[in-house]
Amino acid sequence: CGIVAYIGHREACPIILKGLRRLEYRGYDSAGIALLNGELNVYKKKGKVNDLEAFIADKNIHAQIGMGHTRWATHGEPNDVNAHPHYSTSERIAIIHNGIIENYAALKTHLQQQGHEFHSDTDTEVFVNLIEEIQQKNHCTLEEAVRLALHEVVGAYAIVVLSKDEPNQLIAARKGSPLVIGIGKDEFFLASDATPIIEYTNEVVYVNDYEIAVIRNGKLDIRSREDVQQTPYIQKLELEL
Ligand code: GLU
Repeated sequence: CGIVAYIGHREACPIILKGLRRLEYRGYDSAGIALLNGELNVYKKKGKVNDLEAFIADKNIHAQIGMGHTRWATHGEPNDVNAHPHYSTSERIAIIHNGIIENYAALKTHLQQQGHEFHSDTDTEVFVNLIEEIQQKNHCTLEEAVRLALHEVVGAYAIVVLSKDEPNQLIAARKGSPLVIGIGKDEFFLASDATPIIEYTNEVVYVNDYEIAVIRNGKLDIRSREDVQQTPYIQKLELEL
């Protein structure tokens, strides 16, 4: 299971696919990618990163923002539908998630009563619909909706969230599952560990539990779940390539 995301000025898709391959050692049963380029497109497949790459060969994959995922199924069998990313009901928000949402069943019942539709058997699809529900109810930003959602989910997660309505932004958060941010020049790389990042930059920030990272307009902002700004601790990696 792994996460790779990119926001910057290069083509996101090749960087993400290469990063997912570097995380293959962690094990997985399916792979997927979401690309934000005016549209928010999700492509996902059971199987290997090579299967995903073959699947997207004839698709429009031009985008400078995107996120990719390799799944190790915990809730729902390995298949195309259960693979990540997952859309919200409106298909305007997408999420990738490593970890487990323990209270997903109760949240799902509540969200279904509010009119949200579910296509997969995953706990993850509940998370993205919870964010959508909060945003619709509160008329708030995606950042605020993610923060409020983190107060309601119980379990472990590293997530990345993209929204079609806030197209120059990438939001990530973690509790229990690892997440690293690589800081380049006007570009940022996110991953489950530093291996997909080191070929681009050696400056990294390890996101702490209960922190939310917002990357917008070329800036990284890290806040606590209580919305207090944190000073990112930038480490210099000295890994051999
Ligand atoms: N619990 C999620 C699922 O089963 C995420 C699994 C993972 O960490 O890859 O889809």
